Amino acid sequence: RRWGITPPLGYAVGAVRHPDRPAIIDERGALSYAEVEQRTTRLAHSLRERGLDRDTRVGILCRNHHGMVETIVACAKVGVDVALLNTGLSPHQVATVVAEQNVGLLIVDSEFTEHITAVGETEVVLAWTEGTTGHATLEHLIGSAPARPLPRPPRHHRVIVLTSGTTGSPKGARRPDPGGLSPAATVLSRMPLRSAERMLICAPLFHTWGFAGFQLGIVLGATLVLRRKFDPQQALAAIQRHRCTSVFAVPVMLRRITELPASVRSPYDCGSLRVIACSGSALPADLAKDIQQEFGPVLYNFYGSTEVSWASIATPKDLRQAPGTVGTPPPGTVLRLLGSDGRPVRTGETGRIFVANEMLFEGYTNGSGKDLHDGLMPTGDLGRFDSAGRLFVVGREDDMIVSGGENVYPKETEDVIASLPEVADVIVTGVDDEDFGQRLAAYVVTREGSTLDADTLRERVSSRLSKFARPRDVVFLDQLPRNATGKVVPRELPDSTGSGGVS
Ligand code: ATP
Repeated sequence: RRWGITPPLGYAVGAVRHPDRPAIIDERGALSYAEVEQRTTRLAHSLRERGLDRDTRVGILCRNHHGMVETIVACAKVGVDVALLNTGLSPHQVATVVAEQNVGLLIVDSEFTEHITAVGETEVVLAWTEGTTGHATLEHLIGSAPARPLPRPPRHHRVIVLTSGTTGSPKGARRPDPGGLSPAATVLSRMPLRSAERMLICAPLFHTWGFAGFQLGIVLGATLVLRRKFDPQQALAAIQRHRCTSVFAVPVMLRRITELPASVRSPYDCGSLRVIACSGSALPADLAKDIQQEFGPVLYNFYGSTEVSWASIATPKDLRQAPGTVGTPPPGTVLRLLGSDGRPVRTGETGRIFVANEMLFEGYTNGSGKDLHDGLMPTGDLGRFDSAGRLFVVGREDDMIVSGGENVYPKETEDVIASLPEVADVIVTGVDDEDFGQRLAAYVVTREGSTLDADTLRERVSSRLSKFARPRDVVFLDQLPRNATGKVVPRELPDSTGSGGVS
């Protein structure tokens, strides 16, 4: 049995030690530790009455709000597994996941009407409701059940985190729920989080990064500040109003904060912030610089994935000394860069990133397990170490292309294009090429008022890139198709050789 602080334990202890401390603050107000403890016990009774057995799961398709947290805690109280569904999934994908994951009860926000229709016969309970609806609500389940103590759950429940499916159909990764004490300690050894932290969790709770923030919050007796949808100005307002001490976000959210006009941004007092923790996708060096300029030395860049949780952490000092780094593995994590011969690569050389730590997932729900190599989990990413042992993520293995016989990493090209002051956003991908096998196509979003054209862009990046790493196709777009965690969805990009914008 994994040792750690489960959500029920965290709220039960909090209800005794600091019953009146706000546990969750969202747009509907604040709930204290005592209230969350009592409400989740009631909800757990309701779930038990529904006779959900070991093999049935509760699906959650919710934005960040108190009902989502309460559902996770209540399921843990009865030992029922939960499947966290990505709100970016289409109704059809949700219906498929519900069937595949054996979801017997779907807790869902009322805004997802098409998804509710798509799941057909599956029992639905509405979490965040707006307007009148024909379904039972979470409030009804909580209000109609007793508050008497529950028997100890027969087992730790599992949390199934569904990957976003940017590179295929969504996969369910099984994670044991207790936020382990020692994983939390590894983070606390790098980041000044304290007890009674006031954490604004902007990253979706259904994603590993938002969920990691939640688990850390439980260990720390934190107040979770939640907003259903991310809005950069509202995030600043929430930091000021609730005197938030830490923020958990993905890079695209930070980008949207820095893009606010100074006249909108500067009136907010964010002086309470000690930590901005960022993860989920690559944090561009220029964005890190802008954030440090705006908020001071409070930015931490976490590299990790649903499968390995966090594997390396860059502190503000790392980011200042080595822009673009993801730092070093925390205590208890082994991170190796291996070459194609399976041996560690030399400093500065690119290798495949392998990780071992006690936060590794337990396997996929489709039966495929952890494909460990000597106890190490392949991440599918490529990286290199600098002479100080700091890691740089070079890109995903699958993204690497071979152009004219050369290995080319699109992210390198992306970083160079991103450093042009006129560029607001960029993604570079490989496309088939008759002569060279593959070539690079850049999809670029320019800042307002920019007159940058494709030829000028090519000219300005060419001296910094090898011949095959230069973008051959350049497509200007108004915005990139990004999912809820800010990853670009490649299948939604237009053809780089088609009409309309190719230069
Ligand atoms: P999918 O696998 O479909 O993209 P997902 O977005 O849900 O789904 P995650 O497990 O969250 O999957 O993605 C993890 C990947 O994101 C890592 O393997 C890495 O490629 C990238 N990543 C995460 N954090 C960082 C970081 N700090 N710097 C660079 N890349 C990162």
